[in-house]
Amino acid sequence: MWRGSSSARSSAEGDPDSGVSIDTVPFVSGHLTRAREFLGPAGVDALLIVKAENRRYVTGFTGSAGLALVTPDVTFLAVDFRYEEQAVAEAPQCTVLRGGRDPVAALVGALKASAIRSIGFEAEYVPFAQVTRLREKLAPAELIPLADVDRLRWVKDAGELAAISRAVEIADAAFAHTLSVLRPGLTEQEAALELEMSMRRAGAERVAFDTVLASGPRSALPHGRATNRRMEAGELVTLDFGAVSDGYCSDCTRTVALAAADDRDVDASARTVIAAAGFGEAFGHSLGHGLGLEVHEGPRLAPQEEAVLEAGMVLTVEPGIYLPGWGGVRIEDDVVVTADGCDILTTAPKALRSFSVS
Ligand code: ZN
Ligand code: ZN
Repeated sequence: MWRGSSSARSSAEGDPDSGVSIDTVPFVSGHLTRAREFLGPAGVDALLIVKAENRRYVTGFTGSAGLALVTPDVTFLAVDFRYEEQAVAEAPQCTVLRGGRDPVAALVGALKASAIRSIGFEAEYVPFAQVTRLREKLAPAELIPLADVDRLRWVKDAGELAAISRAVEIADAAFAHTLSVLRPGLTEQEAALELEMSMRRAGAERVAFDTVLASGPRSALPHGRATNRRMEAGELVTLDFGAVSDGYCSDCTRTVALAAADDRDVDASARTVIAAAGFGEAFGHSLGHGLGLEVHEGPRLAPQEEAVLEAGMVLTVEPGIYLPGWGGVRIEDDVVVTADGCDILTTAPKALRSFSVS
């Protein structure tokens, strides 16, 4: 569904007769409005967007290269030859500049007669060499470094929440399947492949990041990649995995015990771990991070984070305990902040699994 609260002022933006279905780029109108509201407080006439996730967020264009420029009344999208048709189809609310081999020149040309004097850019993201080149070409307009442009994306709308929920569902279903085949004797890589294939089969367009799958003593590595190590009965296996749906990521961690014991022993060992909850120093990372078009985005759940949580933010909650040489445990859920608490999106099971050794 597209919310038609368009404040479009030029016919190139949000033209309902453009022949392109705006339903294919849900909520971009709201995202554009957010980007425009950013201009005043940032003290700039326009905002230049280079980072792929921000460009997609504001324009709907999913290509890997291009420059977006948000001004108070027009949003330009300058792309090279490869992306000209795609940009026109995906970004009907933008004025697409067909840049051929030189999208920057196309943007400079479009700005020639404009009153744009100051242009903000993503200070944490645009490489120094690119800033230098853009400064020369966009003169006399001044380029102003802006921190935290990514903040535009922190609070998600209904379309984004639906995409993240779908990505969470895919990962949960894939994990449930993987649990049914996970057993001592498999290598970490075989288990990771099973998990990744099930995510793709369940509809993931790709995995959100390299799957972490670390067994036995390797589970003490918070980001241990899968190796050809064979998992053994009695070991802990930490899996950290995510799917991408409509561009949006999910991010889930579970630690599974390949317990060679009966359920009572497993239950007792779990209780012992929980009872000994004095493991503060073995929990060396922040509790969680924002999640959306990027698997790691703002805000963070960390002692140094000053941001205040707002309804609509999507974050991970992932406490972990790591004991070098012994192993580690991490459980990670994706949650949406609500007005009075949170909704937990992840439903992948957290129960211990046991395997008989007979
Ligand atoms: Zn994770
Ligand atoms: Zn995470």
